Amino acid sequence: MPNQTFGRFGKFGRFGKFGIMRERLYRVDAIVLKRTDHGEADRLLTLLTPDRGKLRAIAKGVRKPTSRKGGHVELFTHCALMLAQGKTFDVVTQADTVDSFIDLRGNLDRVGYAYYIGELVDRFAEEGTESRTLFDLLLSTLKQLAEPALNPDLLARFFELRLLDLVGYRPQLFNCINCGNPVQPVENFFSTEAGGVLDPDCKQVLPQLRDVQPISVNALKVLRHLQSNEWTAVRSLRLTADVTSEVEKLLQSYIVYHLERNLKSVDFLRELKARAYAAKK
Ligand SMILES: [Zn+2]
Repeated sequence: MPNQTFGRFGKFGRFGKFGIMRERLYRVDAIVLKRTDHGEADRLLTLLTPDRGKLRAIAKGVRKPTSRKGGHVELFTHCALMLAQGKTFDVVTQADTVDSFIDLRGNLDRVGYAYYIGELVDRFAEEGTESRTLFDLLLSTLKQLAEPALNPDLLARFFELRLLDLVGYRPQLFNCINCGNPVQPVENFFSTEAGGVLDPDCKQVLPQLRDVQPISVNALKVLRHLQSNEWTAVRSLRLTADVTSEVEKLLQSYIVYHLERNLKSVDFLRELKARAYAAKK
């Protein structure tokens, strides 16, 4: 029987008992953010881990139908992995599923949101940095996404604001980013470049700021509510289509500005929505 604990290379790793390289084994809790084909039967995994942040590892032979590890390292799976330090990438020697979010996988629309969220984490997470809060946020968001009675757009916006907090780009929504005065319930402006709300007076005196867009009273209310409450307190929020779209566009432009490039999965999400809309007609 193959060795379950140490994988196909056995307990001494791929270089054997007297190999030139001593492999160090370590265990991680991980969520699979991305997987790309590598070599003939391997996959390169991008993982998010609580202690080591983003981590890339090779899962050898997992594209073979006989692979025992394959099912445990699918996209978005929460898994427990044993890794061996490698030259370029660390190598998965053992994999077990903690949660495969099976209810999420059956819903193509929700999978689209999971792709988007996974890609955001991949772009913002850092390698080798403790990321427990981000890991917990991703885990709870995937769990929520699997729930049938849920507004996934609202969850995506909530996730975006939390993510922005964690990576140091929290937008300022309560006081004017220029003068610091509390923002009044009138139509204000939002500057992606300055990172928050500008009142109408300050917008006037700062014509040099690019990327300034108007923000309605209701959209600002929703953003503040999402930014300052837990998910359980915001999940039943009902939004009009106009506010939903305004909040989405504003956060998207802010995120894209900080990523300095467009997110592939945003297009994917738009495509999915267009298809869902066409199907309803
Ligand atoms: Zn001001």
